[in-house]
Amino acid sequence: MIIEARGLARLYRVGVETIHALRGVDLDVEGNEMVAIMGSSGSGKSTLMNILGCLDRPTAGEYRLDGRTVSSMGSAELARVRNERIGFVFQSFELLPRLSALANVELPLVYSRGGGWWGSRRRRAKAALERVGLGNRMHHRPNQLSGGQKQRVAIARAILGDPAILMADEPTGNLDSTTTREIMDLFAQLHSEGQTILIVTHEDEVAASCRRVVRLRDGEVASDLPIERDVAVRRAAEAAIEVAS
Ligand code: ADP
Ligand code: MG
Repeated sequence: MIIEARGLARLYRVGVETIHALRGVDLDVEGNEMVAIMGSSGSGKSTLMNILGCLDRPTAGEYRLDGRTVSSMGSAELARVRNERIGFVFQSFELLPRLSALANVELPLVYSRGGGWWGSRRRRAKAALERVGLGNRMHHRPNQLSGGQKQRVAIARAILGDPAILMADEPTGNLDSTTTREIMDLFAQLHSEGQTILIVTHEDEVAASCRRVVRLRDGEVASDLPIERDVAVRRAAEAAIEVAS
């Protein structure tokens, strides 16, 4: 099991108010699953992703990542687990503008203990860029790349360290529909090569590339279904609304 989460809760205190962003989430993700996390704005998707991605800790509950209990780790240890076991992809790409695609991909290795010497880092970064279909764009800077190419660079950077899980928060949020499909094809390819993937999205088109859909509502898991059943349930609900109106 890559992810084993039990009763994850997260409170935010804002002045005198307490916001229950997560109210006891249970989630298991096995190796080589490809899971979409959906839900309306404010339902807790990013809060959950931040905890699962070891960027934040739950107020209550237990989280095991790849067999290690991370919910009780201190921040230094948590940061190490995050760097070694998790690859992140964001809506905004998060590339450094002055560096080439190759240097952007290589950068995390420069700061990691297992990064190796210059030549081996470079070789691994090149291989990652080739894997995402950018072997011919390695020396381009971000402003010389399209949105889809920038996201490919970000994905190459995320998979470089061979993460236990690849996590993406709205990875196609800044992309048009053709490019969205292209990026989802790339995620599907990585999945078929064995990568475990978790994607936060509000786009049905993105969820359709995943095998399983977890829907959050008000900080709780409202449903957790294989994609075919999720689609069927949603169609039935839409039909019921149409009949009623
Ligand atoms: P989503 O990603 O699904 O839109 P979030 O996880 O960002 O939802 O937010 C869940 C709830 O927690 C919302 O009510 C949001 O306003 C609140 N929230 C998120 N982050 C913070 C924070 N840092 N401080 C206070 N409230 C927060
Ligand atoms: Mg969010």
